Amino acid sequence: MEKGWRGLPYNTIAEHYSNLFGEKVYKIPVSVVDDCPNRRGLKGMQTCVFCDVWGSAARSESLSMELRTQIEKYHQHIQKKFKAKSFLIYFQAYTNTFTKLSGLRQNFETALSYDFVKGFVVGTRPDCLSKGVMDLWQEFHHRSFVAVELGVQSFFDDQLEFMRRGHRAQESIAAINKIADNTDIDIGIHLIFGNPGETDEHIIRTAEIVNRLPITNVKLHNLHVLKNTPLEELYNQGAFSPIDRETYTHRAKLFVQHLAPHIALHRLAALAPRWDELVAPSWTADKMGTHQYIIDFLRSHRAYQSQHFKTEDPNIQTFIERLREKSLPLASAP
Ligand code: SF4
Repeated sequence: MEKGWRGLPYNTIAEHYSNLFGEKVYKIPVSVVDDCPNRRGLKGMQTCVFCDVWGSAARSESLSMELRTQIEKYHQHIQKKFKAKSFLIYFQAYTNTFTKLSGLRQNFETALSYDFVKGFVVGTRPDCLSKGVMDLWQEFHHRSFVAVELGVQSFFDDQLEFMRRGHRAQESIAAINKIADNTDIDIGIHLIFGNPGETDEHIIRTAEIVNRLPITNVKLHNLHVLKNTPLEELYNQGAFSPIDRETYTHRAKLFVQHLAPHIALHRLAALAPRWDELVAPSWTADKMGTHQYIIDFLRSHRAYQSQHFKTEDPNIQTFIERLREKSLPLASAP
């Protein structure tokens, strides 16, 4: 953070990891489970409205591969492409804590058996956190970096109901605090913007809630339609329209402006890994174009992270002032 935001108007996850590891680290996404409470239909739950059959896996072919094979294959690929040296294993697809503790432990041990692996990141839901899972995370935290990315998606219950998440906002807040109280691991959350009925006020309120939580990072997505999902049916019936790029960009800007400076952002919009499955909106297929569009929009509006964040804490205030000095010239760049 002392070094600024690498020329960008927001605090990036790359900066967060660099501060932690003193070097750039790359994530290797892996799939080790193929289930979740929603797909199992527990307590009347249904598949989330946006979820395809791959359970948000980055690479669908991974599901049929051993963990070691996935790690070695993608390590080789990323290492060659970026000359990367250090990696985190990202247990991404489905609900990674919806499995036996012995299996989880074995997967963590496998991940850490490679000397290029600095730690691991676990994707899961706010309602799948047993004491045993948290104890296991804390145990591994003593020997490596451990992080969780929670699929919070929204802090508004009507939006969570629309997405058929099967948990309420209060459960997400309780889960985040529970992890912070019981472990020292790094906590991040995923959010989805573009739900029906969403307003600018929802976005600002979301940033205000996020700022008060013991988390270090957020991943933003725009709600988009994939083939063979419940959302595709709603889209075909005319019951759901995806948010347009201009409105989404405006909302992403609002969120960034109200977000506290210490919270890093992974990305500013969704990335659909399987383009052939994308139904709408078409702009979600243009990964780099959309990213640049949002950056350009922030710069042209001289907008930057924490611009409207208010705090009484003099240390944070000084920190923001320092960032403001660094960010303004960047924010005004063409
Ligand atoms: S998004 Fe996650 S919790 Fe929801 S159905 Fe897909 S895998 Fe299950």
